[in-house]
Amino acid sequence: MFGDLVGKRVLITGSTAGIGLAVAKLFAHKGAKVALNGRTLSPAAESALKEVRELANEGDVIFIPADLTQSSECEKLVNSFVAEFGGIDVLINNAGGLGGRSSLEDIDDEFYDKVMDLNARSALMVTRYSIPYLRSSAAESGTTASVISTGSIAGREGGGLGASLYAASKAWLHNVHRNWVKEYTKDNIRFNIIAPGTIDTDFHADKSDELKEKIASTIAFGRFGLSEEMAPSFAFFASHNCSGYITGQILDVNGGQMCP
Ligand code: NAD
Repeated sequence: MFGDLVGKRVLITGSTAGIGLAVAKLFAHKGAKVALNGRTLSPAAESALKEVRELANEGDVIFIPADLTQSSECEKLVNSFVAEFGGIDVLINNAGGLGGRSSLEDIDDEFYDKVMDLNARSALMVTRYSIPYLRSSAAESGTTASVISTGSIAGREGGGLGASLYAASKAWLHNVHRNWVKEYTKDNIRFNIIAPGTIDTDFHADKSDELKEKIASTIAFGRFGLSEEMAPSFAFFASHNCSGYITGQILDVNGGQMCP
């Protein structure tokens, strides 16, 4: 399974930790060429890079620093990736986060920009600059190129208290994919979303053990998911052999926390 990922050029945003790092490890293990991305090459990012390199062929894993809340950095990320690997076969828009909590009456322009830039602008602009390369990849391979974005259960059900903008930004992402399907299926570019439920990453670092237990009790499996349990779904959507006729879909990987 996933044999056609060998040699695929895969750009994974926000991949120095959590879900993105687990995805990078799986793709490296399957023989893909992978770029990790985070804002800077911090000591944690350096150690993530080392871990992924240990699973990959020599020269197949690079790190590209870019703060994707800025459009110019999104462009720079894509250009750096293409300069290294010569094109893009698979784009994974995973960078994102809560960006803080605020009730409706306290939301100001600064908070709005912070959350939307991190979750919406980042995926929009990285995809925008990647399109020509994805188009070429599909044409040259005679198969499909794949864009996979990390959505959220919050984009389905509205999010927790204070997370209205985060939830809206993920719903925005779910919906903008539907439009891109209409425009780019003629170019054999596929767009799919993975919508995680509650996954045990730094995303939940601000929560007490008590709150985590309470949330776990709302999940059919009775526990948070693991990043490693997310990764194979990304490989499924990246693989033309597995999902070449699937586009415009949202796959909910949430342990039964919500069944849309
Ligand atoms: P995480 O905090 O462990 O990882 C976030 C990654 O994004 C890190 O690699 C970080 O360096 C990177 N990042 C953050 N800001 C960035 C920026 N401005 N530019 C570039 N990179 C940046 O969190 P995670 O849980 O692995 O989250 C990954 C994705 O999954 C996010 O889009 C998040 O919204 C989504 N998600 C997570 C959960 C969950 O329960 N963990 C649930 C639903 C959706």
